[in-house]
Amino acid sequence: MPNSVTPTHCPYCALQCGMNLTPAPDGTVEVSERADFPVNRGALCGKGRTAPAVLSSRVRLTSPLVRSGGTLVPASWDEALDRIAEGLSRTRTEHGPDACGVFGGGGLTNEKAYTLGKFARVVLGTSQIDYNGRFCMSSAAAGGMKAFGLDRGLPFPLEDIPKSGCVILVGSNLAETMPPSLRFFTELKENGGTLIVVDPRRTKTAEQADLHLMPRPGTDLALALGLLHLVVAEGRADEAYVGERTVGWEDARAAAMAHWPEYVERITGVPVPQLRETVRMFCEPESAMVLTARGPEQQSKGTDTVSAWINLCLATGRAGRPYSGYGCLTGQGNGQGGREHGQKADQLPGYRKLDDPAARAHVAEVWGVDPDALPGPGRSAYELLDALGSDIKSLLLMGSNPVVSAPRAAHIEERIKSLDFLAVCDVVLSETAALADVVLPVTQWAEETGTTTNLEGRVLLRRQAITPPDGIRSDLEVLHGLADRLGVEKGFPTDPEEVFEELRRASAGGPADYSGITYRRLAEENGVFWPCPTPGKDVPAGDHDVHPGTPRLFLERFAHPDGRARFVPVSHRAIAEEPDAEYPVLLTTGRVVAQYQSGAQTRRVDELNAAAPGPFVELHPRLAERLGAAEGDPVAVVSRRGRAVAPARITLGIRPDTVFMPFHWYGEGRANTLTNPALDPTSRMPEFKACAVRLETVER
Ligand code: SF4
Repeated sequence: MPNSVTPTHCPYCALQCGMNLTPAPDGTVEVSERADFPVNRGALCGKGRTAPAVLSSRVRLTSPLVRSGGTLVPASWDEALDRIAEGLSRTRTEHGPDACGVFGGGGLTNEKAYTLGKFARVVLGTSQIDYNGRFCMSSAAAGGMKAFGLDRGLPFPLEDIPKSGCVILVGSNLAETMPPSLRFFTELKENGGTLIVVDPRRTKTAEQADLHLMPRPGTDLALALGLLHLVVAEGRADEAYVGERTVGWEDARAAAMAHWPEYVERITGVPVPQLRETVRMFCEPESAMVLTARGPEQQSKGTDTVSAWINLCLATGRAGRPYSGYGCLTGQGNGQGGREHGQKADQLPGYRKLDDPAARAHVAEVWGVDPDALPGPGRSAYELLDALGSDIKSLLLMGSNPVVSAPRAAHIEERIKSLDFLAVCDVVLSETAALADVVLPVTQWAEETGTTTNLEGRVLLRRQAITPPDGIRSDLEVLHGLADRLGVEKGFPTDPEEVFEELRRASAGGPADYSGITYRRLAEENGVFWPCPTPGKDVPAGDHDVHPGTPRLFLERFAHPDGRARFVPVSHRAIAEEPDAEYPVLLTTGRVVAQYQSGAQTRRVDELNAAAPGPFVELHPRLAERLGAAEGDPVAVVSRRGRAVAPARITLGIRPDTVFMPFHWYGEGRANTLTNPALDPTSRMPEFKACAVRLETVER
């Protein structure tokens, strides 16, 4: 095993910052600056800098655990894998293959996501597989597919941002979620560009903005429509571009014209002069971008909201032009790759559609199975979790902690408890793993090699830097062992590069074509942007004289067969649960800089825990005064789904009609106890970002 410096990438968010790892004599791992990676140029946030702490954490799992007499006790790998194979087998025999569920994660490498999807469909024969990335980017993916015929989070590199004339950042607090990316926006302003931030809170990101719009949560769709109305009314639409490169303008324009600025001000709370100023700042420069994140996407109308922002980009001639266009800032480490290679309910590797006969035939040939034997699309993430214990009796879960991260989390916790059988692969005993019948301890990022695809669509090589502790196996070894026990002896290699070679073939010709990418190229070139096809069928591994990869999409044509983008006509509609007399306040949820997602890893790092030890309820002084709460007082937030209690944090930087809670914790401050699982009809994204609550003081 290497004992020197290993260049690799952070295990956490979709920026996938480059870093160097060096094993120290005391068994720990040192992180040092890796300046050659252009995304972060050596900078890291506290999460990335402290990520090695989880490798040697005293609470790390080091042995398989099986439930015996109600408690989890150490067991051998053979016993644990046998128990899982028996559990899944019994369910399949008694209730059919679709009674077996599989739940993946946006942190899994491409190789793991690919193998997990193949395992579900080939070994278990189940359609019931989805992953937590559904909660992250699915609305942006659906909107991008509709408009452009292809979804790649950012269709251009982050390095294009400083060269733009104006960026509208909608619902992203990247100063906290991915701090090294802030420099792209600082450089934008240094170059004379402007930054507009749309957020109901005055976040650290909003503090950097030239203009900060504070809409009511859940009204981003109306906001975008109001801006498009003004673009038309002020004669700022790029009619030549619209005529040459798009389809459907008339209907989209008519829909926008029904959203008068004064009407939009009433819905959103954003004053008309700010709407006009936004349009001026966005339309005057030669180039401009809209970047969305979870704010507008995690809504029951998230897809339409994304479509509205894309319509604004199309009408002003921005999409598919230099330093311009629409992009989504995907959140999880491999949220992009995770949605391309088959762990999503409706997809096959290469971002192929599961209900497309040609796609099924291609992938079935690579897998050596009958295409008719492949199951069809299954339930989306929330629907799958909600069916646990009823239609779905057994679950295999990898790289996710839905007891904390799913909407209506207390209900989902009960559904998980009602399963006949649960197996979890994780590195620590997460709140979900603690409910399992079998827990498998698996390798972490620095102990294994694999690829991820960051938010730009840049495929990256994460390299193994250290040897895993005794008693730990990789997720690929787990799936190999289970496939073997379930009667499929071939097709589940444990070597990541071997998996990637198969993934290349499976993705060849698909929208996310990786066939021209090899591990050697990734190591030599510091990442390659997909699509990267290989001409000809039988190019040997390692041959890389063929395609440079595609950093910028859509400059010549969009991915629809006629090369034109599609306007999607959309109209404002209310969130699923508007405030009323009983629940008069809006709740929105989000993240803090020192914690990552459900906190399963970061809550185990002392430095991060000290910086962000628990949840809080952020509220405006007027709301606090009405409630009779002072700074630090415990406040109960109550929704139709449950109750959470956390200390008050009083600030002028939030709308007076809204409270904010970060969602990284379990216990009485679990924010997702409150959130609404109302689903977007297209993306099946739950409405994490807006629901009705009431506040109560708590006696202590
Ligand atoms: Fe890791 Fe994201 Fe922090 Fe970079 S910004 S160090 S990828 S968590």
